[in-house]
Amino acid sequence: MIFKKKLTLIQQKKTELTKLNEETKNYQKDIGIKELDLKSMETEIAKLRLQMNQVKTNKEYSAIKAEIGGKEANKSVLEDEILGMMTKYEEMNQRFRSFEKTIEHENAQLKELQKHVESDLTTIDAGIQELRKMRNKYETLLDSDALQHYNRLVSHKDAVAVVPVINKVCQGCFMSVTAQTLNQLLSGKDITFCNSCGRILYLNNSNEVLEEEEK
Ligand SMILES: [Zn+2]
Repeated sequence: MIFKKKLTLIQQKKTELTKLNEETKNYQKDIGIKELDLKSMETEIAKLRLQMNQVKTNKEYSAIKAEIGGKEANKSVLEDEILGMMTKYEEMNQRFRSFEKTIEHENAQLKELQKHVESDLTTIDAGIQELRKMRNKYETLLDSDALQHYNRLVSHKDAVAVVPVINKVCQGCFMSVTAQTLNQLLSGKDITFCNSCGRILYLNNSNEVLEEEEK
């Protein structure tokens, strides 16, 4: 969430930066046009000076001199204007560069954040791997034979596959179990099946059976 928000912010700023860049470039173009104006003004003035040297009358001479004076005044206004524009252009450029730096900095922060997220993900992945290993371990521990017997009984004995032995009687078929079956149940080593119905047996209360055995 934070990551996406920051990315969006940076993208917004990049759009602003592009706009600022365009504005700066357009302004530079404007200065270029003004400079061209200045050049043509200078050419005109130079031309007028040449003409002034070729006139025959004082009247013509004064007229051209006045024209040159006017153009020189315009030229100086334009020069001031260009100087002002250049100052402003330099400011714009500076703003652009510092904005660019800010975005670079934020980009670096984002990359750092991304690195953290990636390392967190690696940790989580390692955790998942660990859990997988544990599951595999427990799967191998689970007796597949027991599972098979259980599934077989569930499908054949009306879904009652495991029944208790109470008072030496299988509660699945109500037949007495043999002493051997009881001993096997008491040892708790293997799965014990009823000799009559084949269901898996367990002792409901091993103490009770033991006490009966002792009598
Ligand atoms: Zn039985």
